[in-house]
Amino acid sequence: MQIRKVGVVGAGTMGAGIAALAASAGVPVVLLDIPGKEDRLEFAKKGLERQLKARPAAFMDKARADLIQLGNTEDDLKLLADCDWIVEAIIEKVEPKRELYARLEAAAPKAIITTNTSSIPMSILLEGRGEGFRRRFLGTHFFNPPRYLHLLELIPTPDTDPQVLKAVTRFGERILGKGIVVAKDAPGFVANRLGVMGMIQAIRIMQEFGLSIDEVDSLTGPLLGRPNSATFRTADLTGLDVLKLVSTELAHNTGEDFALPEWVNGLIEKGALGEKSGAGFYKKVGKDILTLDYTTGEYVAQQKLRTPELGALKDAPLHDKLRGLLKLPGKHGQFMRKLFAVTAHYTLETAEKIAYDIVAVDHALEWGFGWSEGPFKNMDAVGLETVRELFREHGLSEPELLKKAQGSFYKNGSYLGFDGHYYPVPKQEGVIKLAEVKAAGKVLLEGKETTLLDLGDGVALFENRAKMGTLGEGVIRDLHKALDWVEAHGYNGLVLSHEDPRTYSAGANLALVLMAAQEGDWDSMALATHQFQQTAMRLRRSPFPVVSAPFGLTLGGGAEFSLHSDLIQAHAELYMGLVEVGVGLIPAGGGTKEMLFRFTSELAAYGPEADLFQGVKRAFQLIALAQTSTSALEARNMGFLRGQDRISMNRDRLIADAKQRVLDLAPDYVPQVPMKIRALGAEGIGNLRYALWQFQEAGQASEHDARIGAELAYVLCGGDGPAREVSEQDILDLEREAFLKLLGTRKTQERIAHTLKTGKPLRN
Ligand code: NAD
Repeated sequence: MQIRKVGVVGAGTMGAGIAALAASAGVPVVLLDIPGKEDRLEFAKKGLERQLKARPAAFMDKARADLIQLGNTEDDLKLLADCDWIVEAIIEKVEPKRELYARLEAAAPKAIITTNTSSIPMSILLEGRGEGFRRRFLGTHFFNPPRYLHLLELIPTPDTDPQVLKAVTRFGERILGKGIVVAKDAPGFVANRLGVMGMIQAIRIMQEFGLSIDEVDSLTGPLLGRPNSATFRTADLTGLDVLKLVSTELAHNTGEDFALPEWVNGLIEKGALGEKSGAGFYKKVGKDILTLDYTTGEYVAQQKLRTPELGALKDAPLHDKLRGLLKLPGKHGQFMRKLFAVTAHYTLETAEKIAYDIVAVDHALEWGFGWSEGPFKNMDAVGLETVRELFREHGLSEPELLKKAQGSFYKNGSYLGFDGHYYPVPKQEGVIKLAEVKAAGKVLLEGKETTLLDLGDGVALFENRAKMGTLGEGVIRDLHKALDWVEAHGYNGLVLSHEDPRTYSAGANLALVLMAAQEGDWDSMALATHQFQQTAMRLRRSPFPVVSAPFGLTLGGGAEFSLHSDLIQAHAELYMGLVEVGVGLIPAGGGTKEMLFRFTSELAAYGPEADLFQGVKRAFQLIALAQTSTSALEARNMGFLRGQDRISMNRDRLIADAKQRVLDLAPDYVPQVPMKIRALGAEGIGNLRYALWQFQEAGQASEHDARIGAELAYVLCGGDGPAREVSEQDILDLEREAFLKLLGTRKTQERIAHTLKTGKPLRN
């Protein structure tokens, strides 16, 4: 059973978002909505347009929208006939959904049919449907926005054919890149049931101990291993109306107490729904963010919680943070202890009703709500005796599941089943977790900020653990050691990657660059730049394949090292750019050279007639405008990824995919031979300078921008002599000179200092 074409019915927030994700993955989609009065396609069109305009972008490449065929549910149901999977994402009401299924039963007699419902039980939706339909039906619960939220809950019914579940799992995991959790057909499934209860309890306990919204968000964000948006900012992003809707449904369907306090209902009645309405728990006024004082209803200046105890925990490992939070003095400790106790208790009492195992519960919170570790891992981290003590302190009984635990919920690669036995944690096929590789003792070299790991099958992985993946002197030295090691031991090849959730590499260590410049230490700066370039070139020339597996932010030097590896296996969410001009420099780790060589050598196929200036201009624009991709597909359009480079939709599979690429290349590997191109010399420089002058005249470039542009033009044209043949090393030499010259200017040093201080570029 293979899914090759997808149908989506309902082109609202979720349906059109799912369509955009599937199309981004390269899969053809039929997207239907109800017919409009004048324009029969009105609603489907509007749904698609909203996705094309969405911020952050719903499409990884807008051109992929061409893969979506629009229609309406009266005239075009036949378009669904050759879809392998049809997902229903229409209005959250039983009758329209049932009516639609009755029609689909005939119109698409073979397709897998799924519902995106968040609250209606499958058994109710299936009333009236025949055996055949039931076998190919299940729930597929996506989260909003489908492109960015990793979790996809699958809800099979007792009638669902296991092959159908398998096909949807495979497609969801590999093609759509989601983290799959199989949930029971219970209200709210796994993530919303626990996540929403956690949010409501945080609000109630905050009131009980008289904390402010700022205090709660300071305590329940990164300190707990959760996103910066913590509790209230997350609610603002979701929308208070959505929170209300989901909690009302949960209360109705479970009989449990999901009531929101009156003041929250008051906000919703006033239309303060969160980010989309401009105010909710927070309010943006100009550049400032104000916080609601829920005791008065006024918005007041934000006051993040800063105490010596929290300061001491800030950079501690997660488990120390969790234990430390429970020991905080005063009301902050009381709040944390009660919140932990109440939510852990609810999780323990509810887990078996909603999930098949505790692993699924942890994944649901990790993937759906961005927790670093789910609730059972949290309980293990603080220790089950502490959990029992917390229950006693708050008058809570000991749940059966806790009684069954022998010391911890997870141990030695096993987890506690609901029946009291321990089972091996299922291995996710095609997923490599570095923590597991380390736990298995597969460490080949250990540096201060780096590790060389053995991924098996003769493939090593170089992990850069420096903050923001910066490339300082120590990391570069260790990278050479790693390359030496792989060569000396005859390994198949090397992967460059790591597991930070957001940043692959912010590039070279700017603080060190600035310090050297301010001390006028030009000799060591020249040497360091030379070494950086030679490292990039060594990645390319090594006698074994080197595969980079970048993801998220991949800037400057991080991009340059990726560009010089034999192959890139990128995560679909790749924000890659040579952004050095932002700090008054040009890429000098081979980035300028590389883009020039790529773009001009592509033109070689056109023979002597080729207009090489087109290649030079393309490299100039990419670097001078510091263009950064917003996805791997865009990085491909921009020229950062080549035909042979590959994309992993699923971040969890990235490292395993990169390892596989090494194994693909290794058997008959020969390093790329050095290249030569024709450089345009003075004539090319003249053309680029003219363009720069026009930008400056139009007020689009400052004097310093023009200065940087002129240096870049000089490098890209191979100097200002006559046109000539140049080697990669010729351009690397020019790149280095230009870099050092710019670094010596006051304005560039100001740009670097500003960026280090604010994280933003300075246009001076
Ligand atoms: P929405 O209101 O944005 O979109 C619903 C779309 O369905 C509209 O375009 C509407 O015109 C269309 N529609 C209504 N009746 C129809 C019919 N009979 N035939 C064809 N089209 C019809 O809703 P949404 O937020 O996208 O939610 C869709 C489904 O996804 C619901 O079941 C909802 O519970 C579920 N869901 C929503 C979210 C969320 O965050 N919004 C998250 C998970 C699941």
